[in-house]
Amino acid sequence: MKMNKLLVEKNSGSDIKIKIGNKILGEKEKIVFSGPCAVENYENMKDIAVKLKKIGVHALRGGAFKPRTSPYDFQGLEKQGLEILKSVGKETGMIVSTEIMDTRDVEYALDYIDIIQIGSRNMYNYSLLKEVGRTKAPIILKRGMSASIKEWVYAAEYIMREGNENVILCERGIRTFETYTRNTLDLNAVAYIKEKYRLPVIVDPSHGTGLRELVHSMSLAGIMAGADGLIIESHINPEEAISDSRQTINMESMEKILKNVKILEKII
Ligand code: PEP
Ligand code: MN
Repeated sequence: MKMNKLLVEKNSGSDIKIKIGNKILGEKEKIVFSGPCAVENYENMKDIAVKLKKIGVHALRGGAFKPRTSPYDFQGLEKQGLEILKSVGKETGMIVSTEIMDTRDVEYALDYIDIIQIGSRNMYNYSLLKEVGRTKAPIILKRGMSASIKEWVYAAEYIMREGNENVILCERGIRTFETYTRNTLDLNAVAYIKEKYRLPVIVDPSHGTGLRELVHSMSLAGIMAGADGLIIESHINPEEAISDSRQTINMESMEKILKNVKILEKII
């Protein structure tokens, strides 16, 4: 069936705003998600969350199911990770987001977490997109690492046409000829999407660069490109993070980013 009007397009309705706790993503205030790449254990997740909440991070992230390149690497605590996220979310009063990779985990995971992340590797998993489209939860849809903007936006359309319009696009870098950084953060895409589509966009400078020393600059660049928020990997002790240690920042760096985002909010 040929469709000439897509739900993602500006002429299909007003810009989509999404409630994240007591904040609204898609309004003037930038929403910041942060936390470790993977949920490692309860104590560590709790320490990180308490600190992030104190410095003003709005929502917590942490992977319970990890899509690792090598099947021999740590795959996440899975169900136990969800339990940790639920406890820590409750105890700190923070909204929690985690990646779900399997259609069979979607329904029950929402008893533990508030926001579902679709990872870069699953952006083309149409069964998973349809499944999360049947929920009412906000969905962070990461850009496939080799996906064009058109393919990415159609992936959002898959979710929305099932009834769930709470889609947050996340630019997390794409593969290019450049190998100096882990990915190439495509800020053109952010400006373009804000111009053409109704969906809010957040930027992930952690996976976008792969290098913690670039996270501060690319966070601010993302905001200036028009992003509605950021998702950043952070840890009390980044050197010891089980996964993505090299791109994980500490709490002091996180606090500095939050301060500067507030300054940019005023300028914009
Ligand atoms: C992550 O957020 O830890 C992750 C695996 O991200 P991506 O899907 O963008 O690689
Ligand atoms: Mn990661």
